[in-house]
Amino acid sequence: MNDIAQRIHDIKANLPGNVELVAVSKFHPKEAIMEAYEGGHRVFGESRANELVEKARSLPDDIEWHFIGHLQTNKVSTVVPYVKMIQSVDSERLLIKINNAACDTSRQVDVLLQLHVALEETKFGFTLDEIDALLGTGLLDRLNMVKVRGVMGMASNVDDENRIRQDFMAIKSAFDALKGKYFADDSDFNIISMGMSHDYETAVECGSNMVRIGTTIFGEREY
Ligand SMILES: *Cc1c(COP(=O)(O)O)cnc(C)c1O
Repeated sequence: MNDIAQRIHDIKANLPGNVELVAVSKFHPKEAIMEAYEGGHRVFGESRANELVEKARSLPDDIEWHFIGHLQTNKVSTVVPYVKMIQSVDSERLLIKINNAACDTSRQVDVLLQLHVALEETKFGFTLDEIDALLGTGLLDRLNMVKVRGVMGMASNVDDENRIRQDFMAIKSAFDALKGKYFADDSDFNIISMGMSHDYETAVECGSNMVRIGTTIFGEREY
């Protein structure tokens, strides 16, 4: 097995069976993705629209692409034909744009609502109250081509393990509140995407069932 495939194998071996691994391949070349692919991995995350499209066009069709970065509304129609899921929905406008682009391509797109719980102002996302206000309008009834599958979030970028845990617990409890209020009968609203290379073990302890791991698999990124 090549090194990348080996590292994916090792991570998966230590994850509970219900936790999905998204291999975050942003800034890494197609050859690295193919090494993971040859080891059997199929789910990859990218954070820039042009990079995702360029990779998706030239790599195998059975790769499941997840968009995980901040998505500008003017890039939505370029990425929608290629993605299984957009994890980083952070505005009503973006959600509507994704629905429209999905209509144009006759292709339903899975989305996660991004929650902002971290200390850093620079991170994107909704507060729980904002999502509550958005869903309370009944907007989703009119957006038939997006499927809201759950939430995504990041913990604060700090060393303090307690703060990280607190952030992940806030994301988990926001998921539970939304599930109870708006998605109780929707078994597809079932994804809690949280945890990256340095904090995914804590995230899984706090209820994550989708982790997004780049550096541990592919090495440091060269920006
Ligand atoms: C880059 C990125 C990751 C992966 O981070 P690593 O520390 O390399 O594992 C996960 N989630 C999001 C939203 C990212 O932008």
